[in-house]
Amino acid sequence: MVITTAEFISSSPNISSCPQLRLPEFAFIGRSNVGKSSLINMLTNRKGLAKVSQTPGKTRLINHFKINSTWYLVDLPGYGFARIPKTEKLKLEKLIYSYFLKRTNLEHTFLLVDSRLDPQSNDVTFMTWLELHHIKFSLLFTKSDKLSKTRLEKNMNHYHQILTEFKPNPGEIIPTSIVSHSGKEKILQTIDHFLSTTPVQ
Ligand code: GDP
Repeated sequence: MVITTAEFISSSPNISSCPQLRLPEFAFIGRSNVGKSSLINMLTNRKGLAKVSQTPGKTRLINHFKINSTWYLVDLPGYGFARIPKTEKLKLEKLIYSYFLKRTNLEHTFLLVDSRLDPQSNDVTFMTWLELHHIKFSLLFTKSDKLSKTRLEKNMNHYHQILTEFKPNPGEIIPTSIVSHSGKEKILQTIDHFLSTTPVQ
């Protein structure tokens, strides 16, 4: 797929203000500072579509972008902030979980994890929750340019092992990099695949 148009639609503080469920959507989520905004900009070929934040955890809204007039790319709030008050954290968790439970037009989720880090407990908790609720996701291994090939493979195997513990079919782990653009084609192919198999509403 080639992304020809990427249009900002809305920033929603809650599910009821999200756009109507007319188009299939693909969600991107991960711990704050994982590289989500950079990845969205890379995928859409737009430098400033998603805001690359100076302050980790700045984005606390659900951002919808309409792509090629046919699907929504959804930039979900980052989770796992170290520096926000507990009440705020709980509010965000509730927003994220209700997004997944209520957006019936959600086709697929891309969960971003930092390829350099060992599996973090909140990532594992979140993956377990998604699996428990039968929400399909692919794992994106961000900032892969920062690692040697050997180290990258080692870390991917580690995640693969964790996924096989609770996923009957662990699926693919896609290494990504905004420097080399690796992963871009694979992600767009995955989206294409889902779009081509989605029944017309
Ligand atoms: P977000 O908080 O998840 O949206 O993360 P950002 O997109 O703001 O990225 C956080 C930091 O990581 C920024 O300084 C980015 O330039 C950097 N970054 C993101 N992706 C990559 C990548 O693939 N490679 C490298 N080397 N740096 C990256």
